[in-house]
Amino acid sequence: MAGRIVVAGASMGGLRAAEQLRAAGWTGPITVVGDEPHMPYNRPPLSKEVLAGKAPFESLAFTPKAAAADVEWRLGTKVVAARLAERTVELDDGEVMPYDGLVVATGMRPRRLRCPGPLAGRHTVRTLADAQGLRDGLTRPGARVVVVGAGFIGCEVAATAVGLGVHEVTVVDPLPLPMVGPLGELLARALLKRHEERGVRFALGAGVAGFEGEDRVTGVALSDGTVLPADVVVESVGSLANVEWLRGNDLDLTDGVLTCERLRVGGRPEVVAVGDVARFPNARYDGVPRRVEHWSIPTESAKHAAKALVAHLSDAEGELAPFAPLPTFWSDQHDFRLQSFGVPVLGLDDVRVLDGDPDGDVLVGYHADDRLVGVVALGGHSAAMGAARYRAQLLKQPALTA
Ligand SMILES: Cc1cc2nc3c(=O)[nH]c(=O)nc-3n(C[C@H](O)[C@H](O)[C@H](O)COP(=O)(O)OP(=O)(O)OC[C@H]3O[C@@H](n4cnc5c(N)ncnc54)[C@H](O)[C@@H]3O)c2cc1C
Repeated sequence: MAGRIVVAGASMGGLRAAEQLRAAGWTGPITVVGDEPHMPYNRPPLSKEVLAGKAPFESLAFTPKAAAADVEWRLGTKVVAARLAERTVELDDGEVMPYDGLVVATGMRPRRLRCPGPLAGRHTVRTLADAQGLRDGLTRPGARVVVVGAGFIGCEVAATAVGLGVHEVTVVDPLPLPMVGPLGELLARALLKRHEERGVRFALGAGVAGFEGEDRVTGVALSDGTVLPADVVVESVGSLANVEWLRGNDLDLTDGVLTCERLRVGGRPEVVAVGDVARFPNARYDGVPRRVEHWSIPTESAKHAAKALVAHLSDAEGELAPFAPLPTFWSDQHDFRLQSFGVPVLGLDDVRVLDGDPDGDVLVGYHADDRLVGVVALGGHSAAMGAARYRAQLLKQPALTA
């Protein structure tokens, strides 16, 4: 098998792609280029166990599979451009690297607030360095913490901060409830109650107008005129896809990189995308292309994309099934877990309690056209197991029409 496969991005998606290329029979050289200085590591503990000091930073590293032992890792190196027509990528050290196959695995970065005020004291949580810096801030005695954004990561960080003994933790969001966008009102209300009972304060229905302070942040000014004193601010206001290096190739880069149902990019069978950055149509649902920022997707998409790429490069292209994963995520906050299967956001207009009670452990079903499209459990271990019992049913549901 001749030629080289270049993988851009050395995180979970990049690692799983390299491993799956070997599993799919690719014996040629594989080079993974990543701009972080580390070998791939696991991100979910960055806002939970690692931030809480319950797991050492070193525990995050993935152990690459033996089959991928001969992969070349170019770490601390950024891909700055791609010329897909010429099959080359350009690195930040000036090297132009030719490829026969290319895997796009450059993931996301945190969106930042563009408000006036100092930068020092303001944090995001995406990388190991981010989590280390934030932990230093949270463990400073008497720290007052404002978390901007009541989504998954904001809620997790607020819970971890309270667990660390921080007395003043306030979550700010222009929406009226935490995580109401992905979960809907019923669960968002239950979530708000649980957080408040455990000591998190909320300032909901107001955005951030600016940050107070000279050299470093001392407060967060809200759009309703309130000023919240703060020594540590966490900005968890969503993420942006790392796709700038793909510009100039006539690709749809509006939100991640658009792929076909086989995860191929721009109609080019030698270019595939995996993980958070891939915006793919899921044939299991309505076929509308979406990015899915869940931990399960890098592995599942790498499996599929590697097969598609190796089939093409080996001239063994047969019938490839479309990529149709059942998305799943979990989120640990305080002493409870959210566990989801399917795509709840497609069924927000028809939310039904399947088991339990929102004041205790609860299992909620999301429906579209009277079909179950997602389940979310909120509570302890048994609630999460309850959600898992619906996996088989979700997998059997007929596809939705667009
Ligand atoms: C704090 C946090 C907590 C999370 N918790 C959960 C959870 O509880 N449950 C869950 O289901 N999911 C969770 N996730 C989501 C999950 O971790 C992601 O879905 C997963 O990390 C995506 O992996 P990826 O490889 O696609 O992208 P990324 O992890 O974003 O990796 C992309 C890599 O490419 C690098 N890169 C970017 N541009 C370039 C370039 N031009 N050249 C070279 N390299 C580049 C980046 O630096 C990065 O190393 C969490 C994520 C975060 C950040």
